[in-house]
Amino acid sequence: MTEPTIQYRICPSQPEAHLFSVSCTIKAPDSQGQRVSMPAWIPGSYMIRDFARNVICLKAEANGQPLEVIKLDKSTWQCAPCNAPLILSYDIYAWDLSVRTAHLDQTHAYFNGTSVFLQVHGQEDKPCSVEIQSPQGAKYQNWRIATAMKAVTAKPYGFGLYSASNYDELVDHPVEMGNFSLATFEAGGIPHDIVITGQHRADMDRLCVDLQKICNTHINMFRELPAIERYIFLVMAVGEGYGGLEHRASTSLLCRRDDLPLAGETQITEDYRTFLGLCSHEYFHTWNVKRIKPAAFTPYDLSRETHTHQLWAFEGITAYYDDLALVRSGVIEPTSYLELLGQTMTRVWRGEGRFKQSVAESSFDSWTKFYKQDESAPNHIVSYYTKGSLIALALDKLIRQTTHQQKSLDDLMRLLWQDYGKPGKGLGEREIENLANKIAGVDLTDFFAKYLYGTEDLPLADLLTSVGINFCLRPAINADDKGGKPTENSTAKPVVTLGARIVNDPSGACLIQVFDKGPAQIAGLAAGDIVVALNGVKMSKDNLEKTINSYLPGSEVKIHAFRRDELMEFTLQLNEAPSDTCYLQINESATPEQQTNRQLWLGQSS
Ligand SMILES: [Zn+2]
Repeated sequence: MTEPTIQYRICPSQPEAHLFSVSCTIKAPDSQGQRVSMPAWIPGSYMIRDFARNVICLKAEANGQPLEVIKLDKSTWQCAPCNAPLILSYDIYAWDLSVRTAHLDQTHAYFNGTSVFLQVHGQEDKPCSVEIQSPQGAKYQNWRIATAMKAVTAKPYGFGLYSASNYDELVDHPVEMGNFSLATFEAGGIPHDIVITGQHRADMDRLCVDLQKICNTHINMFRELPAIERYIFLVMAVGEGYGGLEHRASTSLLCRRDDLPLAGETQITEDYRTFLGLCSHEYFHTWNVKRIKPAAFTPYDLSRETHTHQLWAFEGITAYYDDLALVRSGVIEPTSYLELLGQTMTRVWRGEGRFKQSVAESSFDSWTKFYKQDESAPNHIVSYYTKGSLIALALDKLIRQTTHQQKSLDDLMRLLWQDYGKPGKGLGEREIENLANKIAGVDLTDFFAKYLYGTEDLPLADLLTSVGINFCLRPAINADDKGGKPTENSTAKPVVTLGARIVNDPSGACLIQVFDKGPAQIAGLAAGDIVVALNGVKMSKDNLEKTINSYLPGSEVKIHAFRRDELMEFTLQLNEAPSDTCYLQINESATPEQQTNRQLWLGQSS
C-alpha cells in the first residue's frame, strides 16, 4: 500500500479535561503556504456550528522547526511556505454529549470527524490515514473502538491504524471508544453491529431480532444494500435525550435508557417503539440522503450554509418510511402504526405556522429557522419532517390510485436509488417532482404547487378513503394529549384551553409558547409570562390547566402574571379548544378493494 499523503493521529489524551490531542501530517504541503480549516457544519444537521471554536493551541512545524501559522477567518489557518512535510498539532475540547460533535470523559470517547480533523485545502480528494490511540492508564486498558472506518492494521474493535479514501469519507465515520455493549446480526449479507455506551440493561438479543427485521424491510424495498462492508448502530444511552445522525455505513443515536427493552419484556412499549422508529429512520438514510442526495450536497461545502428546497424529500420521505417499516416488518401492529401516523398528523395540525411557511421554504431556511426555533416556532414555521412525511404519504396514495395499485412511492425510491444514488448523481431542484410524474403517469404539478410550495392542508381524509381509513379530528383533552387515538368519553363537556404550552415554575405556571389566535394571545399574555393567579387563586401548572378546563366556553376569567418582574392583569375570554388533534380509524365497512389496498400499503413491499 502506498503511504497516504495525509496522516492524522488522534488520542483521547486528557479524558478528565475533555481534550483530544490531534496531529495532521501533510506530506506535500502547498508550496505557496498550506491552508487548513475546520468545517462549519456537519452533514445531516443543517446549522452552522463552527467546530473551529473547540480547537486549542494549534501549532505548525516542518523540518523539526516551528512554522508560522496565522488565522485568516473564524475557521481557516494559513501556514508559512515550507518544502518538507508539514505537521499541525492541536487539542480539541470535547464536552458536548450529542450525536453531532465530540465528547470525552473517563467513561468513553466519541467524535465525529468534522469536530476533530482539519480539512487540508486542495488535498480533500487525497487518501488519508488515522492512527487512533488509547488513552494512557490502567483504567482504559479494556477500551475498545467501534467505527465503520476501514481498518488498516487495527484489529476488529481495536486501536491502531484506519484509513479513508478522501476527507469526505474520513468525516463520515464517527468513532466511539470505551467499554460498550456489543451485539451483531446479519442483514443484506453483511454484519450489523449494535453498540451501546452508557449505563443500561438492554436486552441485546431482542434488539438484534427487531432491528434485523427492520433493516431487511428497507433492504427488500430498495432490493439491495449500498456497497458497504459492515453497518454500525452507535447508541449512547442517557437519562434524558433523543437524537440521531445518519452516516454512510453507521448512525449515531442518543436515546433514553428507558427506551431500550429489558430482558424478559416482550411488549413493544411506546418508548421502545420510538427507539425502533429512530433506528429505522437513520437506516433508511443509508440510501436516502447519504447516496440519493441533492445536487447542492455533491460535494458538500462545509464552510457555509448550503440551501436546498428538497429536505422534505430527504427528511420527510425518510420520516414516512421510518414508521411504515415498523409495520411492514411485522414489529408493530397496523393499529399501532395508525396511532403513530395520527400523532404525526396532530403535530402538523397544531401549528398555525403551516399556513405561513411552505415545506419547500422550511427546507430552504432550515439553517436559520427550523434549527433555530424559538418560542414562536408553532406560529411561524412548518416542519419539513412532519408535513414532509405527510406529503410522502399523500404522494404514495396518489401514485397507487393513478396506477391502479401497480406502482407506489416504493417505485419512486427505487428509481432514485438506481438512477441517482447508486451512480452518485446529485438530484437537481424539482427533479424528484418530474420523476414522480413519470411513475404516477399523470402530471402532479398542481399537487406540489398546493402542498409543497403552497400552504394548503393535505387532503388526507380523501386519500385515506382508498385504504378504508377514516381521518378524524377532535380537540386535545389535556396538555399531554399527543393524538393518534379517539377520546374515551365523547359525551363530556367541551374542552376549554388557554392556547399556550405551560411548564412548572417555582412561582407559578410559565407559558413557554403562546399559540396564534388562542385565548392567551388575544388577552395579551406572552411567552415567558408566569401566571400566578386565576380569579384571585394561586396557580401552578397543573391546577391552571384543570381550572381553565373546568369553565364552559364563553366564560371570562382574570389572570395575574409576571412579565419579567412586573405584575400584570389580563382578562381572558375562554373558548372551546380547536379540533387540532388527529386520529385514524379503520373503516369496519370498507369494501374488499379498500381492504386489499390497505394490505398492499402496510404489507411487505413487493
Ligand atoms: Zn433524518
